[in-house]
Amino acid sequence: MAASMFQLPETKNRVWINVCVDHKTEIYELLTESEEPDGSVKCLWHQEYPLGMGLADFQYANLIHLEEMITEFRADFEACSVDGDELAHKRVFFVCRYCLFQSPLMVPMVVCMEQLRLHQKTLEDVLSMLEEYKALFPKLHHIAHDFFMTDKANNMAERYWNCTASDPEHFFSLEYATIRCGRIQKLYNNPDIRFSYDLFPRTVSYKDVQGVLIEITPENKPEVKAPEIVFGEILNTESPQMLASFLISRYIEKSMRMKRCKFCQKLFGVTTERGPSYCSRRLGGSSKTCREAGSLRLYEQKMMEDPALREYKKSYKTHNARIRRGQMTREEFDAWAEDARTKRDQFLSEQIDREEFITWLNQDIRN
Ligand SMILES: [Zn+2]
Repeated sequence: MAASMFQLPETKNRVWINVCVDHKTEIYELLTESEEPDGSVKCLWHQEYPLGMGLADFQYANLIHLEEMITEFRADFEACSVDGDELAHKRVFFVCRYCLFQSPLMVPMVVCMEQLRLHQKTLEDVLSMLEEYKALFPKLHHIAHDFFMTDKANNMAERYWNCTASDPEHFFSLEYATIRCGRIQKLYNNPDIRFSYDLFPRTVSYKDVQGVLIEITPENKPEVKAPEIVFGEILNTESPQMLASFLISRYIEKSMRMKRCKFCQKLFGVTTERGPSYCSRRLGGSSKTCREAGSLRLYEQKMMEDPALREYKKSYKTHNARIRRGQMTREEFDAWAEDARTKRDQFLSEQIDREEFITWLNQDIRN
């Protein structure tokens, strides 16, 4: 099975999470004590997401499948909580990774499972946390779709407060436990930095927010920004609802709203009035994001629909045929084609109008 590929993360004494949200990024870290005697901390997993992704991706988390996996590996979960062999630990770790692929909101579940591997939790604890997630799901669905999908960016805190009073079934008060002011490194998902809990070894692949394996080639290697230290409020919690509360309160504070991506149809967060129409998730099996693929599709659609662009294609074919008939040399055609592309781009960027573009295309067409 796939679990045998993985190296188990080395956890020591305790496992906890740090979550920090700045003006456009959600930063998540899974931490443990390091082997060093100086009491330093070891980062097992670090991932950054665009603002809103914690709540947005949870909408598509498959809790049913997670439950099936836990049931399937029930004996391994039970063995790990007392001792367990390496294979049992790897199977539990396999489920942990599945959780992280679903949504960063699942990090408390990963902490719970790691604590089980440290013999601090039991299968019952994991199952009761699963129930918490299941109870949270309809509420967070409602909050994402009915509260955050709005044009009204004003008084979001007041609106939320009113909702908790009028609709207590879906809205909960935003409470979270330990918060401290601290520093966290922003690594911009730097693929050159490795953590033991990486979903894929970063030296050979790049894991995006969707959990798609992408081979790194010189062409698609993501641009790497130097780490930056962010000072902010850092949440440390083991409760899914407290993590959700923390995220929601940060979204409200930043007047974030949810939009539906015109490409993948999934929700994503925006903070400006005229935010993008596409999300930044990577498309399955591709190095392109929805934003890149979406603008390409728009362009192609425009090409299909616009009479001037149909005229451009027709003119291109006419000119190309002249080479065959000996009315134009290859060099002459190449020069024409380059001019034609320039004119087309000027038309697309609205520097020249349709009439001017068509006139130019037809200027030397005889007959
Ligand atoms: Zn999308």
